Amino acid sequence: MYDYDLLVVGSANADLVIGIERRPGVGETVLGSDLAVHPGGKGANQAVAAARLGARTALLARVGDDAYGQLLLDSQRAAGVDTAGVLVGGEPTGVALITVDSSGDNSIVVSPGANRRLMPKDIRAAAGLFRVARVVSAQLEIPLEAVVEVIRNLAPGSRFVFNPSPPRPLLAEILVACDPLIVNEHEAKVILGDTYASVEPEDWARALLAMGPKSVVVTLGSRGALAASSAGVQRIPSVKVKAVDTTGAGDSFTAALAWKLSADATLAEAAAYAARVGAAAVTKRGAQESFPTAQEVAAL
Ligand code: ATP
Repeated sequence: MYDYDLLVVGSANADLVIGIERRPGVGETVLGSDLAVHPGGKGANQAVAAARLGARTALLARVGDDAYGQLLLDSQRAAGVDTAGVLVGGEPTGVALITVDSSGDNSIVVSPGANRRLMPKDIRAAAGLFRVARVVSAQLEIPLEAVVEVIRNLAPGSRFVFNPSPPRPLLAEILVACDPLIVNEHEAKVILGDTYASVEPEDWARALLAMGPKSVVVTLGSRGALAASSAGVQRIPSVKVKAVDTTGAGDSFTAALAWKLSADATLAEAAAYAARVGAAAVTKRGAQESFPTAQEVAAL
């Protein structure tokens, strides 16, 4: 009945990465490594991660009519993502300028570009995609109004998975549609605002649930995750791996969770699988390059 297991609505960015010894001060210039350009952005990453696992995946996003837009379209197609819903033009492709210093810490400046132009009317125009997708996922690197329109266009019987990153206080209309709301500690703090008090992630999960989502998942990096619903809060253990680069762990986790939910897994089953996918992703460098196939997850 559904053509797609997952429709991802979100951002697509070119990640421009330069290695540096140390960050320049105000007015200072430093020399860095050669420039590396990678496809990225939370929406594009989630779509590639899901497709690589075997999910029938479509992406609804906006890129510029430029070389970076083409790079993003190529990487989606190479992973098997349906890109018919990717709009081209209006602004230059979104770009993330990333510097990584000798201790591995990064600084990132994002120019949203075309992502800022993904408008409610673009979401309405893609209504046909919403009718044939079992699960729809979104993040917050696109305008909030676009996310609200996503919720208004969900087909009966479809499920909405939401990772509010970068975080901001959320409208009740968005919160009640989430099943689940997926957050890390930083996102939990921003969304809970003044009600954030406890250091216990179980308490954040319960407090977030009280804001209206049907379910909540809290990701805890190497400590695994929590899956929470009216049935209670369950600890999802992590898989022990040697982490070399955690970039994209959250995106691959969310994509895997959404895919398993599309096949009617329980929240805890889907989160346990997603934890394996997130663990596999941190064993390799990069974001999209690090996302595992289903065979690699099974072999973990
Ligand atoms: P990012 O923003 O860096 O992509 P995030 O903060 O959204 O990530 P994390 O909580 O870091 O998300 O990671 C998502 C999931 O991936 C975790 O819940 C966990 O299951 C898995 N994971 C992440 N880091 C590790 C690790 N070092 N070892 C094992 N599993 C990990």
